Amino acid sequence: MLVATASISLLGLAAAHIGCSGHNIARRNIGGEHNVIYDKRQVDGSNVDVAAECAPYSYAPMANSKPKYPSIWVQPAALVPGDTEAAALFATINATVAQKVPNSNSPHGTLKGDWAGVNYPPGDADCWWTQTRCTTPAASLGLQPDITNLPEPETWGLGFDDGPNCSHNALYNFLQTNNQKATMFFIGSNVIDWPVQAIRARDDGHHICVHTWSHPYMTALTNEQVFAELYYTRQVIKEVVGVTPTCWRPPYGDVDNRVRVIASALNLSNVLWKNDTFDWSVGTNNITAADVTNNYQKIITAAGQGQYATQGLTVLNHEINNFTMQEFIEQYPNIKGAFKHIVPLSAAMNWTHPYVEQNYTFQSFDEYVAGTPASGAAAASSDAASGSASGAAGSGTGTASGAAASAASAKASSKPSSAGVTRPAAGVLVVAIAAALLL
Ligand SMILES: [Zn+2]
Repeated sequence: MLVATASISLLGLAAAHIGCSGHNIARRNIGGEHNVIYDKRQVDGSNVDVAAECAPYSYAPMANSKPKYPSIWVQPAALVPGDTEAAALFATINATVAQKVPNSNSPHGTLKGDWAGVNYPPGDADCWWTQTRCTTPAASLGLQPDITNLPEPETWGLGFDDGPNCSHNALYNFLQTNNQKATMFFIGSNVIDWPVQAIRARDDGHHICVHTWSHPYMTALTNEQVFAELYYTRQVIKEVVGVTPTCWRPPYGDVDNRVRVIASALNLSNVLWKNDTFDWSVGTNNITAADVTNNYQKIITAAGQGQYATQGLTVLNHEINNFTMQEFIEQYPNIKGAFKHIVPLSAAMNWTHPYVEQNYTFQSFDEYVAGTPASGAAAASSDAASGSASGAAGSGTGTASGAAASAASAKASSKPSSAGVTRPAAGVLVVAIAAALLL
């Protein structure tokens, strides 16, 4: 456990990454403008050739959208000039920050996690997880505790950070074959680069959360930059995928009360983790694939010893590269053998309506583990299998989602029967007013 009383401990931590390593994401997963323009590019799950999957493309429904967003992979994001809507919302939230955490010690350090010279006072007034593993902000702030443990025992909360990855079809196919849903923490810059891959997550019935725009250490940012990292990621997921997430995960777990207040004002619950597979760390500090396998085994062994007999755990996995995805695939049978349930966080937390758009209904925990469709949805489960057709209409804009609709529908018959998500028919869609739910 680190002691957050002096800059010495901060220096020590700066050298050891915590959580996912964003620094290689852009190099590994870079997209960008190309002459190839897809306006009806299929969500082709049969394509698992990495080179083909990762050939950059321009996505016609987003062709005119990029100016609305910060530049991709430029740390940190900031308000886009001329975006009066975002600026107005930020002004409101900034006033809330000033009221709730007027004496915050942050920003601190750099967006690469260098805290040299930072002298964080004893007492942890900011509930800075990176320094003290604090997950429970002072009650006076009115914030929910960060999510690490899960209420259901012997349950592995499954999530993947840092996507969408251009070459994730093999992983997503594996999940589909095993009728396994997960929570995907998407990076806004990756959604810009790989929109069709992002859409597949929705079509496969996965649960989508925010993982910032450019993957910085969030507590190092100004209020505006924190806002922009979250706001624009949420916006691009809405535009491309058609849903507005209500959860997020801070890169490296770097969160404090100031960041929590801003995220909460954007209606985003903070999801941390209980255990880290450290899959992201292979190749750093002489860490090998065997080390990661051993990390998985430790969690699995602990489960066998009854460590999770009273509560479940959120585990850190990544779709950051082919190793992390393949390692999960290989460990999946072992996880299944040691845990009673492997569930997405939506099910683990009984978030049956995890998006602002209330027409998306996910399975409760009981429904998920029983393999029964989500209750309370107007549509039959067959609609869930068809996926994106109704989802596009439900987006409120119906822009990007529509392009993938025909392809996904054509694939529907081959999908498992329980997609985990049901949506009403387009004629009875209720378009939620996102602004009403923001504060
Ligand atoms: Zn990450």
